[in-house]
Amino acid sequence: MAAITSPLTEELLNLCDLTWSSVHKSRGHMVKAALAAKSIIGFETVRAPFDQCVEAEALGVELDFEGNYPKPRRLLERIEEFNFTGRGRTMMVLDVIRDLRKTVGPSAPILGGVTAPFTLLNYLLGPAKTILLSRMNPSVIKDYADKLSASIADYANEMVSAGADAIVIEDMASSPDVLNPSIFRIVEVEPLKRLTSTVTVPCILHVCGDTLRILREIPETGVKVFHIDPKTNLSIAKDLIRGVTLAGGVSTFLLLEGDETKIIEASLSCLSLGIRIVAPACALHPKTPIENVKTMIRAVKNNARMIGNTF
Ligand SMILES: [Zn+2]
Repeated sequence: MAAITSPLTEELLNLCDLTWSSVHKSRGHMVKAALAAKSIIGFETVRAPFDQCVEAEALGVELDFEGNYPKPRRLLERIEEFNFTGRGRTMMVLDVIRDLRKTVGPSAPILGGVTAPFTLLNYLLGPAKTILLSRMNPSVIKDYADKLSASIADYANEMVSAGADAIVIEDMASSPDVLNPSIFRIVEVEPLKRLTSTVTVPCILHVCGDTLRILREIPETGVKVFHIDPKTNLSIAKDLIRGVTLAGGVSTFLLLEGDETKIIEASLSCLSLGIRIVAPACALHPKTPIENVKTMIRAVKNNARMIGNTF
């Protein structure tokens, strides 16, 4: 039972006496929150970091840490530098992964989180400029994404050296809800392929929203696992994405507001539709009650025999 994207909730942080800001900025607090998602909620994986702005910050974007997750406050005018390992919070994240490995030993898989090339471009230049450039001059965006993919791969491999067992690539900005699938094919598939072929452990790709129109491209990216949102038609997803394991599938809105029966039904439905790693489909909403997530975990565990080994 994996937490592939962020497992943080307000309730979890309150129970651990942590703040949103400190779990992103403090090595000790990030470790404590990652372990609490395992010990208190019951996830069997641990992951770090929790936000998607570590790389952008390391490349010079100024962040605002006021809300639940950091977000850009001042973007870059232009991208002049692509290599970011060793800057910003990257070294802290690597220390966190080392600490997690020491603490959990071989008992739990550790997932290192990185931001996908195209999504990173959105954080560097802003969504409006990135989408406009993708339409007007896709070769420029593709060139940027290629260069960033090399740096992201270096960073991911540092995570592997620190103890990560798999790398989660978060690619929110490639969702067909916001990016035309034909542009995704041009600017992001190859950079993702370059990234996954350089990283020495399995990669898990997360894309939000209805991903039906890009599912056929996913095997080409080289990822071993695709973390899917239930806005996608799950009953046909498995056939379109042959050779790639499906993960996720349980709506985070259902986990936020749903009752026990509906959460159990949705979890079991994911299992029967061939999702081998049933999990929240995206980062948990901060107000999600822990009990609802536990309901999902129990439903899956009680039926784990149906699906064999998962994370
Ligand atoms: Zn998402």
